[in-house]
Amino acid sequence: MSNVTVVQGGKRSLKSRAAKVIPGGMYGHQKADQIASGFPQFIHTANGAIIEDTDGHEYVDFLLGYGPMVLGYHHPVVEEATARQRKLLDMSNGPTARMVDLAEKLVDMVDHADWAFFAKNGSDGATTALTIARAATGRAKVLVERGSYHGAATWSTPVTTGIVHEDRANIVYFDYNDEVSLRAAFKLAGDDLAAVIVTPFKHNDGGFDQQLIDPAFARALRDGCDAKNSALILDDVRCVMRLNEGSSWAHLDVSPDLTVWGKAMSNGYAISAVLGTDALRDAATSIFSTGTFWYGGVSMAAAIATIDELIRIGGTQLQERAGDRFRDGLLAQAQTHGFRVNYSGPSQMPYMRFLDGAHAELNLQFSKLALDNGVYLHPKHNWFVSTAHTDAVVDRALEGTAKAFTGLAKLT
Ligand code: PMP
Repeated sequence: MSNVTVVQGGKRSLKSRAAKVIPGGMYGHQKADQIASGFPQFIHTANGAIIEDTDGHEYVDFLLGYGPMVLGYHHPVVEEATARQRKLLDMSNGPTARMVDLAEKLVDMVDHADWAFFAKNGSDGATTALTIARAATGRAKVLVERGSYHGAATWSTPVTTGIVHEDRANIVYFDYNDEVSLRAAFKLAGDDLAAVIVTPFKHNDGGFDQQLIDPAFARALRDGCDAKNSALILDDVRCVMRLNEGSSWAHLDVSPDLTVWGKAMSNGYAISAVLGTDALRDAATSIFSTGTFWYGGVSMAAAIATIDELIRIGGTQLQERAGDRFRDGLLAQAQTHGFRVNYSGPSQMPYMRFLDGAHAELNLQFSKLALDNGVYLHPKHNWFVSTAHTDAVVDRALEGTAKAFTGLAKLT
């Protein structure tokens, strides 16, 4: 028997313990040092819109697990529904009845959807959507917006270490809202175009302004796909249940062939979905895309409860109202302190960028000062507002950001 030394982990030693047993101490988008130094790596607990790190610091959270916690952490309705389903069954040799319940709900909610296919992450969903489009068309090429994020599969990951040329050989890039670049991409793909994948609005990571979609550009995407008989895929993973109770393009007269859902559809439980038209049903039936945990009833029950609750309380309007309050407060504070900023995107998923001088540096400093004053704002990724961001919570956040602006004014 080997000697096992039990290291009693003090809170402060978590990062050094992680450095020994987890590659790089942490990986992927949750590597806190990549946000800015000082951001907490481990979160101990959370409730509503407030998270508490392992050192006992509380923050009003505007990242929400990178999107999912749309009703706030530990929402009683979702927790009750999942507890009930867990008692019955989560996973077994076949799915539970919740799978059909959820598929029916999504088909009802999304105009173009005639069927639903479930997976676990946005990456799985987006990759499955490409596979369905390729199965339907027998073609290889896919048009992708330069700089958009569709997940960490080999065709989509933004970090290409470990990726081979062939993984990207069939990807052709275009720029958002730029019809000239779109036309060039359609031309380059020639007669081998399986699909175009696009997000509902431009919400690229890395410290960029967000951009709403130009309806004429959405129309050009649709017309281009129709001309080639290719599939238009809407990657709604980040926006779903935030802008509309249904497709985030419900306000446009452009309908995709496939839509990918994820993140906020289940308030923190792991599930994603691909929704598609009847024309793609046979292709979706013909592919083999699956996973051990893809059929779990608990996350399906969570999705049903989350969607029902959001619709019941008017969740998108509540998020918008809270987001407007936060935006108005922040912009007034920026003005008071003489900072020029650009506040972009819908107020449910905003992003603020400093315009003067070394703006990336100012964004980092501001986020760090906000963090020191109890507000978690990512400097390079869009923020999220939940229905748990009540007036009192937003006001608490604005007290923190007021101190952050005062601190920033002293530094600059
Ligand atoms: N598509 C979009 C638009 C996303 O924002 C994300 C996640 N940020 C993904 C796909 C990938 O989702 P996941 O992280 O659940 O794999």
